[in-house]
Amino acid sequence: MTTEISIFATLAALVALALLAFRHRRSRRQSEAEVNAWKLRLELDLQQARDERNRLLDALGDAFVLVDSDANIRFANEAARALFGARELLNRPVSEAFLDPRLAEALLRCLATGEPVQSRLVLPQQTSPRGDLENRGVNAWIIDAARLSNPPGGSPTTRVIIRDVTAEHQLEQVRKDFVANASHELRTPLAIINGYLENLLDDDMIEKPEMARRFLTIMRKHADRISHIVEDMLVISRLESGEASALKIEPFPFHSCIKDILERLESVIQNQSAEITITLPDPALVIHGDRFYWTQVLFNLVENALKQNPHSGLRLEIGCEAAGENVRIWVSDNGVGIPSADLPHIFRRFFRVEKHHSQQEIKGTGLGLSIVKRAIEAHGGTIGVTSVPGSETKFLITLPKEPR
Ligand code: ADP
Repeated sequence: MTTEISIFATLAALVALALLAFRHRRSRRQSEAEVNAWKLRLELDLQQARDERNRLLDALGDAFVLVDSDANIRFANEAARALFGARELLNRPVSEAFLDPRLAEALLRCLATGEPVQSRLVLPQQTSPRGDLENRGVNAWIIDAARLSNPPGGSPTTRVIIRDVTAEHQLEQVRKDFVANASHELRTPLAIINGYLENLLDDDMIEKPEMARRFLTIMRKHADRISHIVEDMLVISRLESGEASALKIEPFPFHSCIKDILERLESVIQNQSAEITITLPDPALVIHGDRFYWTQVLFNLVENALKQNPHSGLRLEIGCEAAGENVRIWVSDNGVGIPSADLPHIFRRFFRVEKHHSQQEIKGTGLGLSIVKRAIEAHGGTIGVTSVPGSETKFLITLPKEPR
């Protein structure tokens, strides 16, 4: 009996042990599975966080690059990849990836000192990061490098932002040129006026009324020119200083604008026996805009055609028609035209076609077409020009029908 009991007890103990072992194995398997699932979730979370970070950095307009302490690139956002084109960036040293050493310079300085570095670079086109030739001239860049705060135990990472400031640089350049050109343009008539004044005063020309009158007439012509230049400069500056948003937009029939300028230019048109054609399929066509500027736009274009072709026989057309969502306005003439090499520059401030002005006295300020372009753009429109000298020179304006 006792033997049976002890066998039974042993068996029970064995079963209990087996059960325990089984439960232990099961719980180990369970916890292993849990750890694996947990690891997987962690990896997924990590990947998601990384994707989210990359998405955010890709959304940046500026090129953004992360660099390790050995100056190898560890991350480059979409703008950076686009900037460096087909070149491989990841895991490459910056000195190889950034073609121009001056681009890498700020970053290397930051890596060496640990201090943030910001520098502005103006590079000729061929040495720009892009290395392409999409726009001639120079590219301007701001390189901003700073070390990121270290993760515990991690090696230092430096971030570099490369911002393309070419547009701002060009604008700055245009402003500088404007001031330089304006001073130059004003200096000439001022010097002439001063010269005649000296003659009048020092050489006692006042005693000779005939001569004095001649001198004064010349002086007045140049004084008129100065006030013309100043007026044009003021119009440009008004259009550029945001005053365009204060344009007095109202609907008005375009034919009234044509009538105004033809009245103002009537004597010139008659003197030159110019033939004017008005193409206005819908005489009641209304445009939305500031009438003052539209009259000036039309006046400058028609006056230019007359001014550049003082001989008789000029045929000039002024047209305006609805075209879908837009209104098309054009001024064309069959005069001397504009050489194709000059066409891309024709709307630049103070630009004049050399050929037209080399032999005779300066007629215009060279600001007329820039005023035209600015005024049209302030209305949300565009202007283009085509020219076949002697055949047709056409300025074509496209303006949205509804004001923007
Ligand atoms: P400007 O005050 O000298 O007329 P614009 O800016 O109005 O200045 O015009 C720039 C130059 O473009 C003119 O000097 C002239 O050489 C050329 N131009 C403009 N319109 C015409 C045209 N219809 N035919 C020929 N040349 C033109």
